[in-house]
Amino acid sequence: MPATVHDATALPSLLAEPALRNLPLMVLGAGSNVLFATDRFEGCLIQLQCASARIVSDDGEHALVRVDAGFDWDALVDWTLDHGLQGLENLALIPGQAGAAPIQNIGAYGVEVGKFIAAVHVCDSHTAAVDRLTAARCGFGYRDSVFKREPDRRIVTAIELRLPRSGATNLAYAGLSEELAAMGGLTPTPRNVAAAVRRIRRRKLPDPAVAGNAGSFFKNPVLARARAVELQSRFKGMPVFPASNDAEHKLSAAWLIEQAGWRGFSDGDAAVSAQHALVLVNLGRATGPQLLTLARRVAASVQEKFGVALEPEPRIVGATF
Ligand code: NAP
Repeated sequence: MPATVHDATALPSLLAEPALRNLPLMVLGAGSNVLFATDRFEGCLIQLQCASARIVSDDGEHALVRVDAGFDWDALVDWTLDHGLQGLENLALIPGQAGAAPIQNIGAYGVEVGKFIAAVHVCDSHTAAVDRLTAARCGFGYRDSVFKREPDRRIVTAIELRLPRSGATNLAYAGLSEELAAMGGLTPTPRNVAAAVRRIRRRKLPDPAVAGNAGSFFKNPVLARARAVELQSRFKGMPVFPASNDAEHKLSAAWLIEQAGWRGFSDGDAAVSAQHALVLVNLGRATGPQLLTLARRVAASVQEKFGVALEPEPRIVGATF
């Protein structure tokens, strides 16, 4: 059963409706990070179509922005730039809605949204109680948060972002400076960085509008530092990156999958993108279970070759990985 919500303040009374009691609830945003492994969902699918943004306060150095969950993420990046705010430029062109951003703490090119989130407004899906979780209560980690660890417990209705009006942009990831140079030697303003990120993403990643996909299908594995170094000495050319703490290192899931020979592999219409090994694509009429089977085969082969477990990044509905 679908339910569309245009005003988040109406959510508690919707959840209290007798027809919805005891039904599993699921919020579907843009559907850009979810794999349905079942063709039947016996519950209520909620879509939040509230999509406004406003500056709540501004001290000239930082502004606090409140954004409804249904606001398109990439449009929000432009909205903040249009209002002279920065910080989100490295996260340009990530598909999905603002309400999904805190769930997996979206990140790209060395920036995670959790760094800018001041608070997340939620409605408890069981009790219908509303709450405002400050960042400390969101438990942000690498592509992780309390919202992801306790799926469906809370419905995100809005986010608050605290964004700076000035400061250096983040060019730490290889490729960004080169892209700006290739764009005619552009200075790294927030707007130019957003344009560079969009150009790289359009070039490197398959377009979900052309071949259905959920972006990166696996998280980059984070291992104890000694184990990562040991693997790097056994497998020539293996990239190893710093993780969020000194005791761990991060591997490139795309590299592992490619080395295991999966890039461009297809089984019917379920395929590992030839453009980017981390993305599983639907070339036409692949079913969710077919894509899930492919994902499991990829993960099993990486486990066998490298002894490293891959964890899926998108939400899988109707099955466990
Ligand atoms: P890449 O440059 O080929 O690098 C492969 C992986 O290495 C990336 O996933 C990235 O991890 C990590 N990495 C690269 N440089 C790093 C550095 N200086 N410090 C720490 N880690 C580093 O990556 P890519 O596949 O083209 O992706 C580029 C960026 O877009 C990445 O940040 C990636 O996460 C992001 N992206 C996200 C999605 C998604 O669906 N969430 C889809 C595509 C790309 P991280 O992933 O931790 O950044």
